[in-house]
Amino acid sequence: MTGLYLDAAATSAVRREVLEAMWPYLTGDFGNPSSHHAVGESAARALAAARSTVAEWLGCRASEVVFTSGGTEADNLAIKGIALGAPRGRHIVTTPIEHEAVLASVDHLVRLHGFEVTLVPVGRDGRVSPSAFAAALRADTTLASVMLANNEVGTIQPVAELAALAHEKGVPFHTDAVQAAGWLTLDVHALGVDALSVSGHKIGAPKGIGALFARGRLALEPVVHGGGQERGRRSGTENVAGAVALATAARLSMRDREANAVRASAARDAFVAAVVAATPGAQLTGHPSERLPGTASFVFPGTNGETVLLELERRGIVSSSGSACAAGSEDASHVLLALGYDEDVARTAVRFSWGADVTESDLLAVAPAVADAVREVSGLAS
Ligand code: PLP
Repeated sequence: MTGLYLDAAATSAVRREVLEAMWPYLTGDFGNPSSHHAVGESAARALAAARSTVAEWLGCRASEVVFTSGGTEADNLAIKGIALGAPRGRHIVTTPIEHEAVLASVDHLVRLHGFEVTLVPVGRDGRVSPSAFAAALRADTTLASVMLANNEVGTIQPVAELAALAHEKGVPFHTDAVQAAGWLTLDVHALGVDALSVSGHKIGAPKGIGALFARGRLALEPVVHGGGQERGRRSGTENVAGAVALATAARLSMRDREANAVRASAARDAFVAAVVAATPGAQLTGHPSERLPGTASFVFPGTNGETVLLELERRGIVSSSGSACAAGSEDASHVLLALGYDEDVARTAVRFSWGADVTESDLLAVAPAVADAVREVSGLAS
């Protein structure tokens, strides 16, 4: 594409190293890992190696990695699988700013399985208060799920602290790390979580591959039934090329994550300062510092976010009003409403998100275009 792609939180391009690593498993080495012949065994070896690499990335055992079709399926498996697998009771604790994959899975349990849910409120900065979270846990709570970083405003949650509080009450803890992947460390022991979801297409692997870390002792009721692949936790012929792709992207992330995060955080801070200085009324949403290096979201009161997006696209800048799932929807973002924004202000949101290839000077060049687009939409253009 021409112009600048600032919608990496929606998806990213497949990296060349990833494409090269997966290519053989789409062509010559195309076997089914369950087949008992040389072609199948070769695919099974590639799958096992990919599983080990993903386990190294997450700091867990290979047997604790379940490959899925993406972040949505990993979240579904975590929420439904844990809640139905070992029901201590029928109560789930989560937050109102989770991705739809978590919220709709919880809703399914409420509607069809008689669960109750407590949504722990978040502050204006999008952070969950640990004391409010602890107060929501009950003797019959089966599962707590809080995302590591939010996909719309980029706020990072104190997951290690929340997981420890859940464990004090014997409650298993899941985190959706789909947006955190590539930027934050995902060591499941340091985080203290029992389950963690990731998705390939946010870190340079293709769409349609993801993984769930599920701690060995967790009883996990499968969501997808069939031939019993993935140790019975997720049936379906394995996406070998996808698993190899996810492992390759994970390896690149292990190598580059820290340096990328430092660089992108500095670029983000310069960009935010430039946008706020140039654009009257612009407000950064989410936490001022506990936020993803590659995301900056704003509201521009007095405008319409979708119209600002069109103006930006005319200027060669591709961004989004929030989550890709809600793009084009008339509804105000459930995340911004939960942060306490009025509906009319929430409708003015624009999210910029980028990968490690975008530099500070790229972002600084965008700031005047943002100011220009916002002036145009608010009717203030001279
Ligand atoms: N969770 C979060 C926080 C996300 O941002 C997304 C995708 O945008 C998902 C889950 C779903 O992942 P996938 O697109 O791989 O199904």
